[in-house]
Amino acid sequence: DAVVRLDFYVSHTLGLSRKEAKMLIGKGHISVNDVPVKKANHSVQQTDVIHCRDELLAWPREKYFLLNKPAGYVCATEDGEHPVVLDLIASHEQKDLRVVGRLDMDTTGFLLLSTDGQWLHRITSPKSDCPKRYRVWTAEAVSDAALAELEQGVQLKSEDGLTKPAKAERIASNEILLTISEGKYHQVKRMLAATGNKVERLHREAIAGVALGDLEEGQYRSLTEQEVALF
Ligand code: URA
Repeated sequence: DAVVRLDFYVSHTLGLSRKEAKMLIGKGHISVNDVPVKKANHSVQQTDVIHCRDELLAWPREKYFLLNKPAGYVCATEDGEHPVVLDLIASHEQKDLRVVGRLDMDTTGFLLLSTDGQWLHRITSPKSDCPKRYRVWTAEAVSDAALAELEQGVQLKSEDGLTKPAKAERIASNEILLTISEGKYHQVKRMLAATGNKVERLHREAIAGVALGDLEEGQYRSLTEQEVALF
């Protein structure tokens, strides 16, 4: 059975930050099998009965998946016309899963799915500034001037103000890595359009400190508890 640290357990069952959970534990408010435990790294498992003062904490059953999205799949739970990303998840694990931060149908790569509404909200909230790294293949060569513009901020059609500072790195004449911390509709394609270019292919490689690694296209895996806590 899964073994996790007490502070992870408390933060997830009560919807607290890790720091807040550690404080509660430090103050002696958390008991494991009726014994107060003050150590945040105490290991707990499914069979333990854990209370916060008098409140019984239910074992978290939230799911956190990272999927390598193939092209041609829609980021939705249902679509009349096209296959949806949920089809790639085993049927017994599909219940209550929602997509975190959509990708366009033709975009491939890093996609998170979760049942945890608060977590989902934290990542997609405009206030969160999780860096998202994209590999972008373009129709025209990307000039030094265009790279600088992408980094400093470009004016998107029908948006106020410039895009936030980003990181842009050339890999080849028509291939760049672009790391942005916003998530406006079609943002990467529109940013390249603002420099007079066109995106031919788009692949998201990483968000925050988590990367796709060698996860094959169409495959998914659970995030580790450390990865969940990164967002
Ligand atoms: N930006 C886009 O234009 N499309 C995506 O799918 C993701 C980011």
